[in-house]
Amino acid sequence: MKKIVLASNNAGKLKEFALLFAPLSIEIIAQGQLGVPECPEPYETFVENALAKARHAAKITGLPALADDSGLCVHALGGAPGVYSARYAGEPKSDARNNEKLLSELKNHPERSAWYYAALVLVRSENDPQPLIADGVCRGEIANELIGDGGFGYDPLFWLPQFNKTVAQISANEKAQISHRAKALKVLMAKLEETGL
Ligand code: IMP
Repeated sequence: MKKIVLASNNAGKLKEFALLFAPLSIEIIAQGQLGVPECPEPYETFVENALAKARHAAKITGLPALADDSGLCVHALGGAPGVYSARYAGEPKSDARNNEKLLSELKNHPERSAWYYAALVLVRSENDPQPLIADGVCRGEIANELIGDGGFGYDPLFWLPQFNKTVAQISANEKAQISHRAKALKVLMAKLEETGL
């Protein structure tokens, strides 16, 4: 079976990728299991950060590497928190404090539309001249309070009008049908089928 190292230590993302890759004959190994430390994410775009993370994991492990850089973008906040989603309320990273800050920034704001964005980059080696790149978007609204306890990150605040629920209230399988990551992965898989690992 082919192996790919996943350049993330985010437990929520790891769970989602495990579910998304389950039907494929590719083994996904979390970078933490291979002793890969966190990589800096200094760039202003998701795709540059994803490429940096994928290269870093490929360099250290010698395996093909898949990285995801994702975040929440809110129209009323000019696209923030965007690439700063994980550390919106500062270090150390905290989903609870990020959600609290988002609610306070949007207090009494009528325009609450938002989107999740994910960029995925797969490199076959550290210096792969043709990384596979794909992205995906999931649209919704920011709720007025935390609702539900599933998912991770901003999910208890991310309202999906088509479900009449937040992402934290839908099942993992339902999220795997509609998420930004799932959509990006579908595009990436089609490219991978064309070019091979
Ligand atoms: P990254 O690990 O640097 O890509 O940071 C991604 C951050 O964006 C996470 O820590 C969450 O705050 C947020 N995020 C990305 N995808 C999701 C999602 O599916 N649900 C909730 N929050 C997400």
